[in-house]
Amino acid sequence: MRCFGRHWQQRRGDAFTEAYAQSVSHRAPLLYLVVIFNALLVDWCFLHAAPLALLLVAPVIVLMAASRARYWLPSRVARRPVEQLRIDIQAMQRLGGWAALVFVAWSLGLYPYGDPGQRELLHFVIAVTMFAAILGMAHAPQTALRLGLAFTLPWSLFVLATGHPDAVAMALAQVFVTAVLLTMTHIQHRDFVRLELSRQLLARRERQTAELASAHYRQATVDHLTGGRNRRAILACLEEHLTGPDDAMRPWLALFDLDGFKHVNDTYGHAAGDHVLSTVNLRIGSVPGVSAHGRLGGDEFAILFDGSFDTETVMVAARALSAAIREPIAFNGATLRLCGSIGLHRVKGTTASTCLERADAALYKAKELGDGAIVLFGEEDEVALQRRITVMRQFNDCALGERLRLLYQPIYDCRTSRVVGMEALARWSPDGVEWQAPGEFLAIADATGRTGELTRLVLARTLAECRPWETGLEVSINLAARDVVREGFAETIAQIVIEAGASPASVMLEVTERALQLDPRRAAAQLIAFREKGFRIALDDFGAGWSSLSQLRDLPLDRIKLDRELAAALSTDPGARAVTGMIVALAWQLGIGCSIEGVETEAQAAAARALGIHLMQGYHFGRPELAAEALRVYAQAVA
Ligand code: C2E
Ligand code: CA
Ligand code: CA
Repeated sequence: MRCFGRHWQQRRGDAFTEAYAQSVSHRAPLLYLVVIFNALLVDWCFLHAAPLALLLVAPVIVLMAASRARYWLPSRVARRPVEQLRIDIQAMQRLGGWAALVFVAWSLGLYPYGDPGQRELLHFVIAVTMFAAILGMAHAPQTALRLGLAFTLPWSLFVLATGHPDAVAMALAQVFVTAVLLTMTHIQHRDFVRLELSRQLLARRERQTAELASAHYRQATVDHLTGGRNRRAILACLEEHLTGPDDAMRPWLALFDLDGFKHVNDTYGHAAGDHVLSTVNLRIGSVPGVSAHGRLGGDEFAILFDGSFDTETVMVAARALSAAIREPIAFNGATLRLCGSIGLHRVKGTTASTCLERADAALYKAKELGDGAIVLFGEEDEVALQRRITVMRQFNDCALGERLRLLYQPIYDCRTSRVVGMEALARWSPDGVEWQAPGEFLAIADATGRTGELTRLVLARTLAECRPWETGLEVSINLAARDVVREGFAETIAQIVIEAGASPASVMLEVTERALQLDPRRAAAQLIAFREKGFRIALDDFGAGWSSLSQLRDLPLDRIKLDRELAAALSTDPGARAVTGMIVALAWQLGIGCSIEGVETEAQAAAARALGIHLMQGYHFGRPELAAEALRVYAQAVA
């Protein structure tokens, strides 16, 4: 019964209101058409029988029905907001019954003036209008119920009161048909509600799926940090251009890398770094000619420049980009200044990754030039790039231990004329035949993240081959820049030395000034950690380029190694002699030893000796050799 009752109630909610209104709009105009037709029919039949006042009711009904029909036209309903529709439906529920009563009252008023035929017509019209009204409100059961009651009750009672011979049959027929029609309405409404509910469910599911898909798409393509495109999205843009039809309109791909970003992160914190990346992203977007851009990761961005640009125009655009990045960035009262290197490549019909490799090669060159250089990938770069890629793959894939060998160069003490140490110099072979010097593979070791592994291998092998605990030699190994800032590296290498049965004091770690400059604070802390583990530390390549004397005082150093540029100049250049003399004196005052490397002639050695330098290294004393040869020479000298 409750279930039965529930289906008389119209459902609430915007979706239902709209559905009801739509359903009504498809039926109500037709219903009003029936009302208009019937009103005119009745008026026409009673034209000469009824008084004028009653006859004039029909035009009023016609006018009102016509205006209602127009109001409920589907095209008009579709334009009305849901709030208005709700009011319309409520009004219809409220007023529908009263309107029916008016129609019935009018018919009752006419009844006494009609002859039997006209009266039959009234019976017929009332019945037909009621059927039409109930059918018209099939999805508005409450209204249908009110209409049904408003027509049937007064009319049936009236029929019974007329004393018509078939009055009971007529009233019964009307009541029965009304009840059947209302039951049908009830069933129709129930089905309508079910259908509408499942339609709403489907719509909700569809909406949720669409929302999920768009959220997923956003997550997958938006860089959470800058709010712009991420790697995936910008590469997708690039791919699109590659597969596009017009070869002449392929865009320019620029790779952009911020110089000094790490410094911002370290000095001002990560919030400043994030701010810089977002600002840079915005600024890139505002450069004329940029058709798409996104962050590849870290502080590297990919930019697509307009395909209609020629070489000159794209260089102008790249310079504009560079200038935009150089503009100071304000952050929390601080002014941050950065610049960026740019590698450019005209996208050609290959894969996105080849385009990236080429632009990256140009970027690599630009970074070597420094100061926010812009480099265009040229034909001649292709050969170098292919070689670099091949070597990179070989280095990446090889078992480093099998492809590595060490040469040892003696360190000679002039006072005792004896070899006191060996410096290990690495050689790497891509194929086991050709051996490459560090200048060729160190950058690749760095790029492939294998410098730590290299250093560990070199240290372990040097100890195994030179056996300092037996020979009394001091062994020197070179550290890569990253080793100087690598977390826990002092412990790692101390462990290697202990496992080899050697003492860290017999190992000299050579670090270059450049490595120290990468991150001076962490480097200084790392040197202290090395020292605490018992290692000795040498500052390599001192005097090559710009050297800072202050770091001699601040860092825990055991030795400085004067660079071979100074060695070469010593015998000929009095200025070089003066500078070297000053460095030696300062080092002596600070308790730091001095050695000189790259000594090739006796004249250079004599000049160094005259300045008080006793530890020497260079072709004049011995070339780098494999362990067997280096140790044989050493053993002979000792003997
Ligand atoms: P470095 O530490 O300054 O090593 C000295 C370089 O000068 C060596 O070049 C050596 O062969 C060369 N050399 C020695 N005596 C003379 C000389 O009288 N005249 C001239 N012209 N050159 C001389 P190499 O072996 O090519 O090493 C180059 C650089 O590579 C080294 O410079 C060092 O910084 C780095 N390196 C070498 N081995 C390793 C290693 O195992 N790990 C790391 N991270 N770096 C290494
Ligand atoms: Ca060295
Ligand atoms: Ca050196």
